[in-house]
Amino acid sequence: PPAVADPTHTVSTTCPYCGVGCGIQLEVDDATDRIVASHDDPDNLSSVGMLCVKGRFGYTFAQHPDRIQTPLIRDGERYTGPFRKATWDEALDLVATRLVEYRGDAFATLCSAKATNEDGYVQQKFSRLIMSSNNIDHCTRLCHSPSVEAMLTSLGSGATSNSYTDYEGAGCLVVIGCDPTSNHPVAASRMRRAIVERGAKLIVINPRRIDMCDYADLWLRSYPGTDVALLNAMAQVIVAEGLADADFVANRTEGYDDWLSVIEADTPEHAATITGVSADDIRDAARMFARPPGSCLIWGMGITQHTNGTANAHGLLNLALVAGQLGRRGSGISPLRGQNNVQGCGDAGCLPNSLPGYQGLRPDTLVRFGDAWGAPGRIPDAAGLVVTEMVESMERDDGVRAMYITGENPLLSEPDLNRADELFRRLDFLVVQDIFMHETAQLADVILPATSFAEKDGTFTNSERRVQRVRQAIPPVGDSRPDWDIVCDLARRMCDKFTYQHPSQIFDEMAQLTPIMSGISYQRLDAEGGIQWPCPSPEHPGTTYLYADDFPRGDRAKFVAFEQGAVAAETPSDRFPLVLNTGRVLYHWHGGTITRRVDGLMARTPSLEVSINPQDGERFGLRDGADVQVRSRRGSLTGVARYTYRMRTGEIFIPFVRLGDSAANFLTNAAYDPESHIPEYKVCAVRVEPIEP
Ligand code: SF4
Repeated sequence: PPAVADPTHTVSTTCPYCGVGCGIQLEVDDATDRIVASHDDPDNLSSVGMLCVKGRFGYTFAQHPDRIQTPLIRDGERYTGPFRKATWDEALDLVATRLVEYRGDAFATLCSAKATNEDGYVQQKFSRLIMSSNNIDHCTRLCHSPSVEAMLTSLGSGATSNSYTDYEGAGCLVVIGCDPTSNHPVAASRMRRAIVERGAKLIVINPRRIDMCDYADLWLRSYPGTDVALLNAMAQVIVAEGLADADFVANRTEGYDDWLSVIEADTPEHAATITGVSADDIRDAARMFARPPGSCLIWGMGITQHTNGTANAHGLLNLALVAGQLGRRGSGISPLRGQNNVQGCGDAGCLPNSLPGYQGLRPDTLVRFGDAWGAPGRIPDAAGLVVTEMVESMERDDGVRAMYITGENPLLSEPDLNRADELFRRLDFLVVQDIFMHETAQLADVILPATSFAEKDGTFTNSERRVQRVRQAIPPVGDSRPDWDIVCDLARRMCDKFTYQHPSQIFDEMAQLTPIMSGISYQRLDAEGGIQWPCPSPEHPGTTYLYADDFPRGDRAKFVAFEQGAVAAETPSDRFPLVLNTGRVLYHWHGGTITRRVDGLMARTPSLEVSINPQDGERFGLRDGADVQVRSRRGSLTGVARYTYRMRTGEIFIPFVRLGDSAANFLTNAAYDPESHIPEYKVCAVRVEPIEP
């Protein structure tokens, strides 16, 4: 029979969900321009032919009928008046006219860790150059800001030091405060490969019995908020038993004696009384971690989302330093990044205290960027507000009055949502740019429709610092436009810059001004696949692991000591006797704005489950599978009780996805870590009550 022409074409791009950064191949029906399938990419250097359920089946959101397809302007009363469709000129003229009233500290912007590096770069440039404001932040504030804070202090860089290949070459993996099987499934597969095929030891440290416990040599079930005591005690064992890497400590670190004087009293016996982990298990974990050939520390928000989050992160770094588990193959530190481009968003300068490439607001850097941007002296030199400070400032007359939010939904991601909603209603002007309507967009004065990952070109940077191409597979849905294109069109109404025609021009400018990326270009990415920064020249192959010879802060990394303080800002009481732990689930992504629009994923997890130990369930009169109300001092939600022995008595778990009217952040506490300003999402006091049918 005659050959039948293939009715589809395939586009290689990068998964838009988590920070693992898997390569996906989108199959597009040529007749309808619809994506009809997503396949793994065997050539992708990060995912090596694997995909999880979200990468494989989660693409349908891109062409969901709920997509916002035209600019929208609020008519009539603020917050309650209807939106009407507008042209791009009408909407952008209005935004430009209103925003000029708020130049300086009255303006703030939230960038999107779901958008590309190029999108983030032009948005921070818009804020600094046109709005004269460093009030720029993104979701890393709510996930890994303590990790970044601690790593910048101790090492001089806020990035993951190693690569997924290091897991496979390690003798021991320590998985602490994260559930990779649910949140970073392909990275979890590479961990399991290390354990099953190469015999690596696995230590899990988590109050919940996560799936990885099934593979663990040791599971330390510490109480929430007690990680400083646990990590100090492990370090104390390493020193006391002569397991420290004396050469590394002597030649590549500073502050050892001061640190040791603080942690010497943190014996395993002392830590056992705080953490609930036996002294013998603490000793065994320390010995496993310190032994050759190498160990990797892998962590998530169970470490960071605490009022002692930065202290926890320093505890991990101190452990890596004292055992010399850094700067060589099969070792290193991995804060697993949540969103697809949270690494890149920080790299691109979407931070209140640094320009692209983590270049601080120093006079020489400001001059270099000011000259390159054709506006010498225009970039403000004082650090701006982080997102939690932006929200707090709305209470004051001299606080933030106008916001431009791209691809973020703070009225789902902020803690204590009832309070956050009150504060956002005090803004004079709110612009939201996104692909779907959501809680924050409902309050906006203007909504600008952006494209999804499938409708634009650009780059994402994954958890292992690998810059990878994003390629357009389908035309923009409706009148939506790529974020970079919208920002540039808005900017051109306010100045004569921002004349880019294609994201590659934006990338080239960013690379030219950012030494860690200056050797990367679209041409190289297309020819070689992803490249890991630092990559300082076109001949440089990229860097799989950091700190082989020195650290960005100098020759020596720094020990920083913390003692175990209060375990949490809010602990159980007679009225609120249970500890609430929040996190994520496999079939939803973060707040669920995207995955709620994927039928297959919704079918797997259609309701908000409240995981509870059966003993607690019976104690409080619940039934497995029945509706339950959960209350904290700040709000309440309705979920479905799910009995599981994965939970310890006294603790419950609720994912922070919004399903129906329920979301965990109605309950969480806005108390935050003083160093990083991350809220304490991981611990608050709640009670549960049955809902009678
Ligand atoms: Fe996408 Fe993360 Fe799943 Fe990979 S592991 S397919 S990047 S969601």
